[in-house]
Amino acid sequence: MNTQTVIPVAKPALIGNERAYVLDCIDTNWISSNGKYIHEFEQEFAKFIGVNYALSCSNGTVALHLALLAIGIKPGDEVIVPTLTFVATANAVMYCGATPVFVDSETETWNIDPHLIEQRITNKTKAIIVVHLYGHPANMDPIVELAKAYNLKIIEDVAEAHGATYKGRPVGSIGDVATFSFYGNKIMTTGEGGMVVTNDAAIGQMVQQLKGQGVSIDRKYWFPIIGYNYRMTNIQAAIGLAQLERINWHIERRIWLAAQYKLRLESIDEIYMQPEVVWAKHVYWMNTIIVKKRDPLYRQALIEFLDSAGIETRPVFIPMHKLPPYMALVNDQSFDVADLLSDCGFNIPSFATITIEEVDYICNTIKHFFNKT
Ligand SMILES: *Cc1c(COP(=O)(O)O)cnc(C)c1O
Repeated sequence: MNTQTVIPVAKPALIGNERAYVLDCIDTNWISSNGKYIHEFEQEFAKFIGVNYALSCSNGTVALHLALLAIGIKPGDEVIVPTLTFVATANAVMYCGATPVFVDSETETWNIDPHLIEQRITNKTKAIIVVHLYGHPANMDPIVELAKAYNLKIIEDVAEAHGATYKGRPVGSIGDVATFSFYGNKIMTTGEGGMVVTNDAAIGQMVQQLKGQGVSIDRKYWFPIIGYNYRMTNIQAAIGLAQLERINWHIERRIWLAAQYKLRLESIDEIYMQPEVVWAKHVYWMNTIIVKKRDPLYRQALIEFLDSAGIETRPVFIPMHKLPPYMALVNDQSFDVADLLSDCGFNIPSFATITIEEVDYICNTIKHFFNKT
């Protein structure tokens, strides 16, 4: 491996007011989970998504846990989850003592296939978690219709799609409640961090209470329910606010990068990339290549070829139905689309500060592998 110049899959761009705001936290002694940046970050984030309430928390996984608890998910309940997602989506359901019920992806968007949801609904089903995978919004209308018909709640897991829109509406504002992650590799970051957003005052209040040990909203030192310490710190929020000030730049850079990749890689017949449906604004958390030849050794050879050129890649998530904690939950169901994407796909460097020289180098290396120079 050429260790001098490794191009990573992801890295944060801390090029705005991040440093100034963090130093302000230290200079003013407001470093814990109270302080002006928390309130400003929450307010600005609610505006950004176009919702009434935004509640910060320690990461995207606990954001999911809080959202599930706040809509009343209990032991014995079932929650529909796409099999092709990051493991946190399914784990959060298990934290509630509920059972995730997995659904395959659709070829058009790689997100949960709305046509396969109805057959998985039982009298225990309480909610559907929709994940906007890699920044491409899921097909929401048919899911919203199903949720109405069966009286189910919708949670949007927007950990990978800050700023994406579905038919012009920001994702995260369509379901009953939505969750975001600000991990270091996401579209915007606070290091570790998360947010729960909703238009529903009762859900917002429950999240606020649960993330702060269950303390009563209107009576200090009184704990009517068991809660958690899932709070974000003022330092994290300071970074988050600075990131949010430049969010349009972050998103535009990602859309620009995706266009550059498409332009350069489109002509290679052996591969294709994630499609973008007409009603979608895809924000390209990741740029993903699918190798058409379904042979794990062939994909591995390409990954190793890139690795030896100093280009980091990451395989598409292994679907939940293949992971040890979840294998036993599925019987003879097939998940053909998720299996294909997972067997043949991998992510290439996808970050806002990538240079055009790096893009050229990555694309030329891929072309070289396919003898297309
Ligand atoms: C990153 C991610 C999460 C978890 O977020 P953390 O902040 O790392 O806890 C949840 N869901 C999806 C789809 C993710 O990509």
